[in-house]
Amino acid sequence: MKDPKQIEKTIDLAYSLIEQKDNIQLEIVFQQLCSDFNDIIDNRSDSNIIDLQFRCMACIIRCQLYADVNDEFVDDEMQMIRAATNCMVNPVLTELQLNQIYRLVNDIVRECNKYYERRGIRLPMPDVLKNFGKFQTKYEPIKINKREQTSHSCLLCGKLPATAKGSHLAPNFLIQSFLSYDGSTKRDREVVVETVLGSLAKDRKWGRNVKPEDIDKVFGVVPDKEKSNIKASAVTRDDLLCPQCEKRFSFIESKYSDYYNKRKNTVSPEVSYLFWLGVFWRLHIAGWCIRLSDDDAYSIRKILDECMPNTQKDVDTLKANRTWGKFCYTLRHCSDTKSELLGLVGNHANRSPYKLLCGEYEITLYADHESAKDGYPINDYKSDEQCAEIKFIDFWKFKVDVLGEVEDKEFSSLNKNPLGKLLDLCKGDNGGENFKLAPYGAQELNNNNMASHVGSYAYVIPGSINKFMNYKASHPFDSQEKFWEGVQKTYGYTKEELQEMVGYWEEHPHFLQLKSEGSIKRHKQRKERGRSIMKINKARHLKAKSKKQARKNK
Ligand SMILES: [Zn+2]
Repeated sequence: MKDPKQIEKTIDLAYSLIEQKDNIQLEIVFQQLCSDFNDIIDNRSDSNIIDLQFRCMACIIRCQLYADVNDEFVDDEMQMIRAATNCMVNPVLTELQLNQIYRLVNDIVRECNKYYERRGIRLPMPDVLKNFGKFQTKYEPIKINKREQTSHSCLLCGKLPATAKGSHLAPNFLIQSFLSYDGSTKRDREVVVETVLGSLAKDRKWGRNVKPEDIDKVFGVVPDKEKSNIKASAVTRDDLLCPQCEKRFSFIESKYSDYYNKRKNTVSPEVSYLFWLGVFWRLHIAGWCIRLSDDDAYSIRKILDECMPNTQKDVDTLKANRTWGKFCYTLRHCSDTKSELLGLVGNHANRSPYKLLCGEYEITLYADHESAKDGYPINDYKSDEQCAEIKFIDFWKFKVDVLGEVEDKEFSSLNKNPLGKLLDLCKGDNGGENFKLAPYGAQELNNNNMASHVGSYAYVIPGSINKFMNYKASHPFDSQEKFWEGVQKTYGYTKEELQEMVGYWEEHPHFLQLKSEGSIKRHKQRKERGRSIMKINKARHLKAKSKKQARKNK
């Protein structure tokens, strides 16, 4: 039998080729993977190999979904579901392993379902998958950041050993107020949900200064054992930077925080420019909601390393010049976010623009001025920072766009390498999920059927709309007037806002993106081929018919 480690490597390689869109290499690796899979397919006694079988199958199906050439993956999908059914009675698998397998199969079925929906097909959900939803709310540790385990040099200067502990990836003053359970800005009071959006894996975490009873207030009753566990901090990381570079970041931060917290009226454009580049870059190196392109990551690292001063005093005399790069950003703030769940969430796109939701703020970073066309004031190192105050509905649309982008393009959850996973953070919340993925065979939601709120829906539903639907379902006999009054009182959304939200979400480009130019072209080609085959068959049929007729006439 082939070495399982080798097969794992092949799987990782296939996923990274999908990410890079390297179709030629992928075809070769795909063939390799199929033959590897045949090698291990018969094993029923080794739980690790069984687990590997499923990951292999998943990868084979995803390669085919990605290639989008034909329907052959359907057989593989059915095989995978059958295999999952067999696993249920296999005693070598633990409950945890079984859950992992089910979750993977569920993901695959969901991904295949998107393919079917594009072609207007709906298939009934297999029995074995019907209860999958319950696994999605489970909290469990997410493996991240192996980099911490081996010693290496500072990721900024590249010279000194990276020994700085407890580095805040986004500065404390920026995130603590919306992640802390009591709204305070003091350290270690955060109560958060850490999540890999692509796979829905999640864990709940809290800072050192959160009392056990306050944890329960947020999440309902949390088992004592989990509360006493020491979990890795959700907002800091160790061993990414050297202590000196850590200090250099703090000089810039303390200057910017004076301005941010309104202790000072102004801040120099040099400081705000370095500050935001520093935020995006540190999120990137830690695998936290932002993924910069290699070029941009390199340029920003260079700018930060060369321009950030070594003392607090030198921050006041910073003077930018052309070597500071072409980056620019737009900044927006919404003071009325209503009942939206706040967090630190990025668009995970590995090229500019990079979008970041940070509590009540939205920041978009552009690689150059030419691409900055969102209509808001553009900030760079030359002029004083401007922050646009926006309405709730615009804040909400940005959030939906970011989540939609993640849902469309997120492949990091497929990556077995913990460094490849991107984490997002939300404030801890017991009011259900901020969005939910509907199961296989789900019904498409529209204005007509949303009132009934029965069963399940086919798309990610923004939390606000989900709340609205719940309200509608639990107040079926309210008059129109009373209903809107109730919604506004409970959630703060006006009728106009909700109508706009539902409309924007339904006509969201995200749904149109399911059809790419390539897939439409391939679909046409298939149809064309089908037509010409039909023509040939028809001609054969006619020929046979006339022969038959001729025989009869004889
Ligand atoms: Zn350093």
